[in-house]
Amino acid sequence: MSEPRLESFRAPIGTHDVLAPESGRWVAIVAAFAERAGRFGYGLAITPIFEHREVFQRVGEETDVVRKEMYELTDKGGRTIALRPEGTAPVVRAYVQHRPTPPWKAWYVAPNFRYERPQKGRYRQHWQLGAEVLGVDDPDVDVEIIELAHGFFASLGLGQVRLLVNSMGDDVSRPRYESALRSYLREHAGSLGAEFTERSEANPLRVLDSKHPDWQDVIERAPQLTEYLSDDSREHFERVQQGLDALGLRYELAPRLVRGFDYYTRTVFEFQSDALDAAQNALGGGGRYDKLAEEMGGPPTPGIGFGIGIERVLIACDAEGAVPAPVARVDAFVVNAAGGASATRVLAELRESGLSADRAYGGRSVKAQWKAADRSGARYGVMLGAAELERNVVGVKDLQTGEQIDVPRDAVAAWITTRLEEDRA
Ligand code: AMP
Repeated sequence: MSEPRLESFRAPIGTHDVLAPESGRWVAIVAAFAERAGRFGYGLAITPIFEHREVFQRVGEETDVVRKEMYELTDKGGRTIALRPEGTAPVVRAYVQHRPTPPWKAWYVAPNFRYERPQKGRYRQHWQLGAEVLGVDDPDVDVEIIELAHGFFASLGLGQVRLLVNSMGDDVSRPRYESALRSYLREHAGSLGAEFTERSEANPLRVLDSKHPDWQDVIERAPQLTEYLSDDSREHFERVQQGLDALGLRYELAPRLVRGFDYYTRTVFEFQSDALDAAQNALGGGGRYDKLAEEMGGPPTPGIGFGIGIERVLIACDAEGAVPAPVARVDAFVVNAAGGASATRVLAELRESGLSADRAYGGRSVKAQWKAADRSGARYGVMLGAAELERNVVGVKDLQTGEQIDVPRDAVAAWITTRLEEDRA
């Protein structure tokens, strides 16, 4: 083997480590989402981080995420597998494989992999929180899934989030629209270059979500999806809007919102943050995918879901001062001045009673242990010296006031718990 290079021992470009205290924000965000999804009746789905390539690369899926950015590899058994680039397809694959009783409501938290040019808010590994519902095409489900995501942002304290909604139509209206759009784009290709022409021909919808500055004029004036909706799709979309209105959720109709996957049908939506740079302002989004289960060999099963990028949410939180990193502090810090195992037992009792508690290691002097107690930000120091041991007490020092009193050894956990409750009251 050749000598490893020093760069080998750094996280690969476009990836990052998340360490405490920053990781405490991740715990808070995932817990908030899990709790909310649970209240809405969604159960956690854990799927592999790699799948057979076909789960993502189906006929007709021509998007950059799948065609250009996917991490594909051949395993030692010669199978072509892909690291998950997105969260919906694996959940649908799991549905098709296990056939849980519909409506099946699942949420997830998982890393995704895309070989993109790394920049702020755009990484080669990013994490998404998401939720999916399979087996119902009732527009009330569209409203529920949007409400799930919408209230999540609010629960984090994010106020500058805009909800955009559109309808992609169904398999009657969508081909009609695509051909109208293609003709329009052909007429207006002018001097916009080969890439424009290629995209317009291969997948005209993908022109609409381009941020290419030279194309914006033509995109602005393009025919709109909603003008081509079938009666069914129009009625579905109207009922979604009525549902959002009934809940008082503010949204904007966004006729050019097409989202980055070809499997979407009917309702699509996106949450954008006004606190982020326009190029990376999408916090999350999703939509209906009523044909996806069938494309994977399952029975016709409508579905809808969304994915929210955790890193993006955190950038928005930074900008809005939401979800600060938790201050690491413990309830009690045990100072062992007597030596021996008594202090270890007291520490274990504190922890088992539900308090957070810590200690110093390596036989440090009593003075050094008290210093460590101060540095830890602990509320109370719990001291065991020879005198305390003899009287079966511990010295409990309030590290804010410096006052110290003796507390019976077997009452110390209850004593601290009561004091902390009083503090909070
Ligand atoms: P998508 O799966 O493309 O619909 O993306 C859903 C959300 O995931 C986006 O709105 C972003 O918040 C986030 N996201 C997508 N791609 C990346 C990436 N490369 N790096 C960081 N976050 C991303």
